[in-house]
Amino acid sequence: MSVEDLQQQFVAAMNAASTSADLKALRDDFLGRKQGRVTALVKSIASAPPDERRALGAGANALKQLIENALTVREAEALAAAPPKDALDVTLPARQPWMGRRHPLTQVQERVEDIFMAMGYQVIEGPEIEDDWHNFEALNMPAEHPARDMQDTLYLSSPVPVPDGGRAATLLRTHTSGMQIRYMEHHEPPVRIIAPGRVYRRDSFDATHTPMFTQIEGLVVDEGISLGDLKGTLNTFAEAFFEARVATRFRPSFFPYTEPSAELDVECQGCSGRGCPLCKQTGWIEVLGCGMVHPAVFEAVGYDANRYTGFAFGVGIERLALRLYGVDDIRMFYENDLRFLQQVAL
Ligand SMILES: [Zn+2]
Repeated sequence: MSVEDLQQQFVAAMNAASTSADLKALRDDFLGRKQGRVTALVKSIASAPPDERRALGAGANALKQLIENALTVREAEALAAAPPKDALDVTLPARQPWMGRRHPLTQVQERVEDIFMAMGYQVIEGPEIEDDWHNFEALNMPAEHPARDMQDTLYLSSPVPVPDGGRAATLLRTHTSGMQIRYMEHHEPPVRIIAPGRVYRRDSFDATHTPMFTQIEGLVVDEGISLGDLKGTLNTFAEAFFEARVATRFRPSFFPYTEPSAELDVECQGCSGRGCPLCKQTGWIEVLGCGMVHPAVFEAVGYDANRYTGFAFGVGIERLALRLYGVDDIRMFYENDLRFLQQVAL
């Protein structure tokens, strides 16, 4: 058989083949080591007349290469069109392993803690179930004070034992300020602490309110602590937190346990103070409440109010997170939608 005849036979057989099985049979038929037709042709070269051997050998090799190439292409096409069930598809994009992260609120809390720890503050924690004395009375909020109103506070129906407690009702703490009292009851000045934790209020659950949120309380007490120390400390904090030289302002405010009291505002990062929806067109963002510790608080814990002065502040973690990430609905932080969490991760 001539090289040309064999090539025509292969082309005809190739056109008839469609599945991977057809192509495998075709490969065996033409290139098989024992019975293959091209193999037979190559073997026949030895018995051909000497003057034809060279041309026959070249033709047979070229045909072998042509069949090999054609089969390789068709086999790949057939495999792509109908891969076997257990086939390894090397064209499939790899699955990216998803890296877990800490929750955005945790990250913001740790960021605040890191800044104050770098300034020499100690981090302390305390009970979320609190008694009336630590949450209100020792903080200069006597029985008839409006802040103790049932609208705001979640009282427990039966008293629960709390550390150093036992005075009247127990409740879910409405702020972390009770940690000021708990710490001062057991430590003499100088005091330099922050106390992060969850707090609870009887509030609605909407874009700007949640019945539970996170605060970081701060307290500094020593001889000669002044309002200048308060302003310097909180300005340093604001610059470190927002990683920028931000303008700040202290607005007069009122808290029963500080005198004087103030709210710290920072210039809105969204509009650089020009006014935008994030800052309600004021150009300023409220960041925390603060003030000089009220002498009545020192009296409640047995500190000498003539000798010691101090300042306290309370930072809302959710509020900071809203500003930092430019989020306009606080509920996003609690729904744990992975699309949101991945987007705002630091
Ligand atoms: Zn703004």
